[in-house]
Amino acid sequence: SDRPDAYGPAEVETVGAIVAQGMVAYDNARLFSQVRQLATVDGLTHVANRRHFLEIAERELGAARTSGLPLAAIMADIDHFKRINDTLGHQAGDDAIRAVAARLREHSREGDVVGRYGGEEFALVLPDVGDAAPVIAERLRAMVQAEPVDTVAGPVTVTISVGVAHLTSADTGVDALLARADECLYRAKHGGRNRVVVFEAAVR
Ligand code: GH3
Ligand code: MG
Ligand code: MG
Repeated sequence: SDRPDAYGPAEVETVGAIVAQGMVAYDNARLFSQVRQLATVDGLTHVANRRHFLEIAERELGAARTSGLPLAAIMADIDHFKRINDTLGHQAGDDAIRAVAARLREHSREGDVVGRYGGEEFALVLPDVGDAAPVIAERLRAMVQAEPVDTVAGPVTVTISVGVAHLTSADTGVDALLARADECLYRAKHGGRNRVVVFEAAVR
């Protein structure tokens, strides 16, 4: 109101009570979003944690089934990571993990899902990827190696081994797909590391 003294103590009290309730609701919403953030995002790397990654990956699988668009999964693991921890310390190791996550995020597409799958292991799901997954995997590998990453112990050159697999109509869920990518990652390690291995299926 433009009029002075338009509201008495009763009105002021009522409005005060409504505002207080609004502030409680606002606080709750903010806390809820903070809790959800903590539950879905990995604290070190800020990419999706494993549980959340699997949740989104499963959703993307469903979408790929509906659309018929090709989807691929990538598993990537830092090579000889123990050496970084052992020679430069755990803090430098953490820095390396963070830097690799940032490069994977930076050199993948917006719609790709990136997750921290384990300690120094990452998983990606690439929706609507066409036949580019092997090329993308190779680019990610090259981009990690391209420049040393900054750590508390100075710059360190890091490499990753990468496995790639494509979704097939036989896959019942994301587990089977990731298992094939993981199998390829294992072969990449045994083939000498710092390389990409693609699962070659007889039928897609
Ligand atoms: P490979 O090339 O076969 O992958 O060798 P690697 O040494 O990388 O493999 P391995 O899986 O044996 O070692 C991974 C190590 O990563 C073991 C664990 O102590 C360390 N690690 C796991 N999580 C973290 C983390 O959050 N921070 C740091 N600094 N180290 C971690
Ligand atoms: Mg490793
Ligand atoms: Mg590992």
